Amino acid sequence: MKSKDIAELLDEPACEHNKKSKSGCAKTKPGATAGGCSFDGAQIALLPITDVAHIVHGPIACAGSSWDNRGTRSSGSTLYRLGMTTDLTEQDVIMGRGEKRLFHSIKQAVDDHNPSAVFVYNTCVPALIGDDIEAVCKAASERWNVPVVPVDAAGFYGTKNLGNRIAGEAMFKYVMGTREPDPLPKNTPENIKIHDVNLVGEYNIAGEFWHVLPLLDELGIRVLCTLSGDARYREVQTMHRAEVTMMVCSKAMINVARKLKDSYDIPWFEGSFYGITDTSQALRDFARMINDPDLTERTEALIKREETKIRKALEPWAERLNGKRVLLYTGGVKSWSVVSALQDLGMKVVATGTRKSTEEDKARIRELMGEETKMLDEGNPKILLETYEEYKADILIAGGRNMYTALKARIPFLDINQEREFGYEGYTGMLELVRQLALTIESPIWPQVHSPAPWK
Ligand code: SF4
Repeated sequence: MKSKDIAELLDEPACEHNKKSKSGCAKTKPGATAGGCSFDGAQIALLPITDVAHIVHGPIACAGSSWDNRGTRSSGSTLYRLGMTTDLTEQDVIMGRGEKRLFHSIKQAVDDHNPSAVFVYNTCVPALIGDDIEAVCKAASERWNVPVVPVDAAGFYGTKNLGNRIAGEAMFKYVMGTREPDPLPKNTPENIKIHDVNLVGEYNIAGEFWHVLPLLDELGIRVLCTLSGDARYREVQTMHRAEVTMMVCSKAMINVARKLKDSYDIPWFEGSFYGITDTSQALRDFARMINDPDLTERTEALIKREETKIRKALEPWAERLNGKRVLLYTGGVKSWSVVSALQDLGMKVVATGTRKSTEEDKARIRELMGEETKMLDEGNPKILLETYEEYKADILIAGGRNMYTALKARIPFLDINQEREFGYEGYTGMLELVRQLALTIESPIWPQVHSPAPWK
């Protein structure tokens, strides 16, 4: 990828900070890729497209360290879970065999799995030796008559976030707009007008989007594509025909939403499905942007029905959790989207992590939680535990890598990141969230591990 293209991606005009001061994204510092390189970001963004063969062009470790690291679920094909790599060795580098290996790997993937498409991810080594993956993909695509999409996101280009954008850029450049959406099914009710929408940044972690999808179906909102949870290649192709795009609590692929607006005049909004308030707001925003009075009316009725139902179901749980204090340490947008879900339960978030949050995320946190909330830019175990003590928190909610910090300190911990096993989206997702929170906080293990050993 040319440095001009990278600079362009880092200077996304739709980002708030660029609207204000044209500052662009912060330059990467050495070590910035420790939380994931660009390749990792690109792969994580596209891996949930389930019927595609995802080939990592590079040494085995690039694929081995990143494969299947997001618990995203599929309702059909499971091809995406098969790790594929060209497994470059130093011999390949010395003999200049990188491109050839890639070409044959694509053939093998096509022959063995008959995928809807092949995505090829570039990594540091082939980028340094100058493999032209774009040319190889083009040749392979012509030869085997299958779309082969190059995702040129070598790790050293920058951060994981940049990788997300590169992935979005590849989808926009090579895939979107190459097919028209399917006609509506014959049994579609005639009295309801069906509206087509896109979701960008929704990953269906632990199948959580399936809490929301039935509601959209009921409203007559057809999801053309979720980029990329439980998506199919043929769905990504039709994204240019949506009436509106929702950026699901993530600015990671904001370039996709912006480009769909610029090129196809599709408006977009940002929302979240975490928590009752935010889920209702997202549904309202769909109706507002689509601007169909009948849809607005039906949406309000659905929200009323669902909110009444879920609030009743939450009552016994909320009593148990009311007033409990939370230390939230999670990246980016979850720093605010989860806050609102916890506040819906009457819990108090005493501090939140903002290491990967954008300026807009931070503004949102202040708006939700007030000025006095502590924002943690750095979250090493010592700081986390000190904050936990100082703010008298009852539970640490964070990503899986903080689990051992919590276990060693013998404090309640709930995993909120992509590796988690439970889906928390939508109204019904709240029930799962409260259940997990209550089980964790009230576990009988805590008094036991804090009491002195019997022999002392
Ligand atoms: S792409 Fe580069 S930085 Fe990323 S895992 Fe591979 S070698 Fe490491």
